[in-house]
Amino acid sequence: MASITLNNLGKVYAGGARAVGGVNIDIADGEFLVLVGPSGCGKSTLLRMVAGLESISEGEVRIGDRVVNDVEPADRDIAMVFQNYALYPHMSVRQNLAYGLKNRGTPKAEIERRVGIASDILQIGPFLDRKPRALSGGQRQRVAMGRAIVREPAAFLFDEPLSNLDAKLRVAMRLEIKELQKRLRTTSIYVTHDQLEAMTLADRLVVLNGGRIEQIGTPLEVYRRP
Ligand code: ADP
Ligand code: ADP
Repeated sequence: MASITLNNLGKVYAGGARAVGGVNIDIADGEFLVLVGPSGCGKSTLLRMVAGLESISEGEVRIGDRVVNDVEPADRDIAMVFQNYALYPHMSVRQNLAYGLKNRGTPKAEIERRVGIASDILQIGPFLDRKPRALSGGQRQRVAMGRAIVREPAAFLFDEPLSNLDAKLRVAMRLEIKELQKRLRTTSIYVTHDQLEAMTLADRLVVLNGGRIEQIGTPLEVYRRP
């Protein structure tokens, strides 16, 4: 686990459009931070700068005691969960879970141990030998989370992971993510436009507007009527 620090973080896209500006946040070890705000307010850009999927125009991102502005995504010790699952279609669930670890040279026994833990937490044991196309949306998203868990990263980054699921499944998966959070206590940044997800999951909430922090606080502080 590690803290994440955003120092005066900003993003100006080629062409001059500002997406994020002047963002300062200290995310503590084990904290679950949720980013909310209207479409286009910069949530995804901010998350992708932390992930290393988008270049940083201004300021810095620290993970633990390391400035990672120029560190490749794969070397940032983070794992990201996407809305579109991003599973490899030609691989079984087990191979999807193991692939990243295999590439990093993790010993086979250790891979098996971690796949066992993830499939236990997410209850995907019965599907380990299926291909993603033979899974429901909820099962696919569990596998996508499993792929993040087996990395045992310093931090998780979630980019609207439940947006593609129907309303009923979203409620169930929201509670599963809450359980995951209690069990692992891994530092997390979670982007959503769903207020219930935000209130259920957040230790602290950040409301972005026009690429800047409009409010930051606990769900009670942010959603309390004035
Ligand atoms: P959100 O995730 O909150 O919907 P985004 O981070 O996707 O917001 O977008 C923030 C702003 O940056 C928007 O005005 C969007 O149009 C703009 N933007 C996003 N991606 C690009 C890009 N690749 N090039 C130029 N502008 C972009
Ligand atoms: P893994 O170990 O899970 O195979 P890597 O660390 O090798 O992943 O992947 C490199 C980076 O690319 C990671 O930050 C990962 O989150 C990102 N990535 C993987 N799939 C996608 C996708 N569909 N869209 C955007 N980024 C992705």
